[in-house]
Amino acid sequence: MPLGLVHDPVFQDHDPGSYHPESPRRLAALDLALATWPGLAQTQRVPLRRATNEELARVHQASHISRIASTEGRAMALDMDTHTSRGSYNAALNAAGSLIDLCDAALDGKVTNGLALLRPPGHHATPVRAMGFCMFNNVAVAAAHLIQARGLKRVLIVDWDVHHGNGTEDAFFLDPQVLYFSTHQSPFYPGTGPVNAVGRSLGEGYTVNVPLGGGYGDAAFIRVYEDLLAPVAMQFEPQFILISAGYDAHRDDPLGGEELSDRGYAALTRIVMDVAQQHCPGRVVGTLEGGYSPEALASSCLATMEALMGDDSANELRRAARDTEQPWPLKEAIGVHDRYWKLHNGEMFELEM
Ligand SMILES: [Zn+2]
Repeated sequence: MPLGLVHDPVFQDHDPGSYHPESPRRLAALDLALATWPGLAQTQRVPLRRATNEELARVHQASHISRIASTEGRAMALDMDTHTSRGSYNAALNAAGSLIDLCDAALDGKVTNGLALLRPPGHHATPVRAMGFCMFNNVAVAAAHLIQARGLKRVLIVDWDVHHGNGTEDAFFLDPQVLYFSTHQSPFYPGTGPVNAVGRSLGEGYTVNVPLGGGYGDAAFIRVYEDLLAPVAMQFEPQFILISAGYDAHRDDPLGGEELSDRGYAALTRIVMDVAQQHCPGRVVGTLEGGYSPEALASSCLATMEALMGDDSANELRRAARDTEQPWPLKEAIGVHDRYWKLHNGEMFELEM
């Protein structure tokens, strides 16, 4: 079965301004890379579809949906750094709707797994407001669809964007059906996501934040995903895994201060896929969030897609990471979460490679 892709020029119609880092140039670089990528023949493009009001309303309040609708065909500032152009509203609706359809295609076995190469990104958009370059929270709308329309009981969202996905956390902070796991640079925009924000009420323990200082590379990220994400996810037993796939923790990113490589993203993808293999084969769908070096974005997206299509060469990095020291933010997060999950520094839940 093919890898499902959401990929269309409509997402370049959203143009927040020539000096804005979240620029159509990001997807233009990806188009260029895809044109000569041998894997493209084994992908299947999911047709565009605009999200409905009902789908958006599972996450967003009516006032937010109508405010965003009022930007249709217009250039407006939604906040200091979130701007629209004539095509933004249409792109945003197609981003959320097409991601839902990609998830349905994976759930129904029409594609093995998938990646949505869309703009605008979504994970900062809260139920009530646009912010941080985001209009609708695509990944949250997709998770809410899987729970409310498709009847799933447990959806995992893995967010490796360098920024904390405050909007996604807000949407599911009280909800034990959606486990939100985020690694993010801290202190950094938007300033949320401390390690002790773990969810509230029935959702307590179902938000896992790993705030990292700057300068962490492949080995440190791999340790966080092997030693914390994997055991938590194995116990949560997700029926579907969504990835908020931002590529701004890449070493070449002009905004982020982390040091991940293309292969590092492939290794993280393989860790997520190993979890999926145990509980929900095939049901891993990534959606593009940030990533502001167009070239690094393109090469890391290709590395992610190759990993999703079966290339396991990045497991070499996972083996090498075993000999490294756990970074202290990971130790701290394990200390916070071992009251909710059985955590044994990765030994007990070590995955086959
Ligand atoms: Zn970001």
